[in-house]
Amino acid sequence: MFSEFSSSIMLISLMAGALACFATFGFVASLYRASPDKYSKLLIVYSLLVGLGLFAIHFMNMRAFNHSYMNELSYFYLLLAFGFATSVGYSVLHTANKLTLPLYSLILSGLQAGLSGYGIFIFFSKAMLENQYEILLLPSLLAIAIAVGVGILSIITYYWLKSYDGAHRYSVRAFFSILISIGILSTHLAFNTCLGSVNTYGADSNILNSSFITMLFAMVLIFVFLTAFIVVVFYDKLNPNIVKRINFRNTTSVTNPLDSFDPLTKLPNRNALNQHLKLAAKRCDRLGDSMALAYIDLDHFKPVNDTFGHHVGDLLLVEVAERFNSAIRNCDYIARAGGDEFVAILGEINAHESIVAVVQRIIDAVKEPFFIEGHLIEISCSVGVAIYPRDGNLEKLKVSADAAMYKAKENGRNQFRFYDAEIEQASDEMQKIRKELLDAIEKEEFTLHFQPKIVSKTHAPAGAEALLRWNHPSKGLLTPIYFIEAAERFGFIDRINNWVLTEACKTINMAHSNGIQLSLSVNLSRQQFRNAQLVDHIKSVMEVYQVPPQNLIFEISETHAIHNQNQFKKLLSKFKFAHLKVSIDDFGLHPFSLTYLQNLEVSEVKLDKSFTSGVAKYGSALAIVDAVVKLAHALNLTVVAEGVESEDQRLALLTTGCDQLQGYYFSKPVPAEQLFAIYHKLNAHYSHSGEFSISDYLDLEAYSEEV
Ligand code: C2E
Ligand code: MG
Ligand code: MG
Repeated sequence: MFSEFSSSIMLISLMAGALACFATFGFVASLYRASPDKYSKLLIVYSLLVGLGLFAIHFMNMRAFNHSYMNELSYFYLLLAFGFATSVGYSVLHTANKLTLPLYSLILSGLQAGLSGYGIFIFFSKAMLENQYEILLLPSLLAIAIAVGVGILSIITYYWLKSYDGAHRYSVRAFFSILISIGILSTHLAFNTCLGSVNTYGADSNILNSSFITMLFAMVLIFVFLTAFIVVVFYDKLNPNIVKRINFRNTTSVTNPLDSFDPLTKLPNRNALNQHLKLAAKRCDRLGDSMALAYIDLDHFKPVNDTFGHHVGDLLLVEVAERFNSAIRNCDYIARAGGDEFVAILGEINAHESIVAVVQRIIDAVKEPFFIEGHLIEISCSVGVAIYPRDGNLEKLKVSADAAMYKAKENGRNQFRFYDAEIEQASDEMQKIRKELLDAIEKEEFTLHFQPKIVSKTHAPAGAEALLRWNHPSKGLLTPIYFIEAAERFGFIDRINNWVLTEACKTINMAHSNGIQLSLSVNLSRQQFRNAQLVDHIKSVMEVYQVPPQNLIFEISETHAIHNQNQFKKLLSKFKFAHLKVSIDDFGLHPFSLTYLQNLEVSEVKLDKSFTSGVAKYGSALAIVDAVVKLAHALNLTVVAEGVESEDQRLALLTTGCDQLQGYYFSKPVPAEQLFAIYHKLNAHYSHSGEFSISDYLDLEAYSEEV
């Protein structure tokens, strides 16, 4: 029955297949742009349509090769065949529309498509040729393998090209459609080799003639060679980044590509973003249209960098950029604004839901874990959305989207937030603080106060901690809690930190001129961790004010140290090399601090206030402090208790052997002159009586700051 086949029907089948594949590109693109609520309905409709197409192609192929099948038809089996065809459509459409295409998912869906393809054929055969054939095992396995290969190829192709909107998109689609159609035809030829006919005398006979086999090989060869050719020539060109880049070419007028693209992620950079934003705003003004600006910030990206290193951080950014790029629609635009910040411009936002759909897709894009260099990394992102022109002009729009993004972070991250009246108010407040902080830096409204540390046993002065204060023109003296976070957020913290360091060195130098050997503790901020030149910078400032290394100790909060372990260790070795001492501030808040301490080369730990407040009241708190002090001593570390507020606490801490004490009980933080006065008084008392007196600290209560 395979002795003849109709080449004209085969050609028609090839053309019909190519047409169906071409139409499938449209289905995939439509699904890609669909909002989540419409997605499943559309998926069902499109799967049915693809199923119908495949059914028709198979029907034609059956006709082309097997004329004698056409005598009787079983509608039941035809229906089953149609069901399997729909299943092929579903697996290809759904998988191609996923945000990521991990290998296992590709293989599973390829298998589903291949086996369903085999199912179509088997049920077609049953429908047309009941009991006149038997299924041969080896050819079946071969046919299924070819079918799976074609399934995988079509999934990859649709996945790659779903958002491809370049100038040659129709030719590219047509080309791939023909390729997949050849694949389908070869699959069908391979299927035909799976049936052996059972003749009237009950003996099996080889049903294939040599021209048929030649034809199968020719088709498979053409298919394999064309596929290999495409993979080699187009692979690089078809990754989603490039796809979107083709889009952007028309919208950015930057001549040098380096000026407009971020070299790491290949997304447009801030320059290009600003240009595009201006053009898009002009377009909106002209047409009376709206657009949305979405500020996207990765949550917890820094710990990734710190834990796995910058190389992994970079690779993660590249993958994140790819996923974001796939998550947006063709009418949208995405750029990397710097660091872990991305900005999307969403066009065609006639309905609120269309923004929500895209923004949600952006958030979902990073939900699936990343596998980078053997590490499984889970992150999320927070998105702030502002709408042009509703939420203000371009400048205001950026601030608004940024403020909305911060609100999303504040609300618990991994979510989006639209700019609204509440944020407007908070954002105005932040803008006010920003301006005031800038003024404060320029007008030098900052000042340092110093809180003495005392040696527990002898009451001798052990130095002081430098604490930053802002002499606000209308609000008076402000402690860091009111402004450090804002300073970090607006990027002023480096300037403030540098000022603190210089001022501390100046004070040590001044103390020296006043006959005082002063050693100061300086708090380091989170940002300073990342500054590779930190130690060099510290050394240069120390040199200017002739401060010896033993007069400075740098406090790093335990929380920052634990969240940035790798960076912290690197930093510690640099400090050690420069003979600079490091103290772990607010120690004891994390359960694993004790074991962690073993591996660190620090000089001091500062027990958190929460321990101090309990030592006089609870035996358990005292026991913990006792244990920590013993362990720290075993590791050769000095232990300082901060937040000492009463005589009872002082006495309790004394029993533990804690080396130094600091707290309101002795003195609140005071300006430099008052600190010097305390030292003079202590020294005078000492030269007179041979001992230091706590009352010399206490007496100075009158000088203490009111904050
Ligand atoms: P910290 O380094 O743990 O500083 C100790 C804080 O406890 C200071 O708060 C101090 O005034 C307060 N304190 C001292 N004795 C007592 C006491 O007996 N009872 C209580 N309840 N509190 C006491 P302050 O000055 O408000 O500083 C808060 C935090 O701000 C500091 O915590 C430090 O992390 C940060 N900070 C202070 N100065 C700087 C600075 O120059 N640069 C940076 N980056 N951060 C700073
Ligand atoms: Mg401190
Ligand atoms: Mg502290």
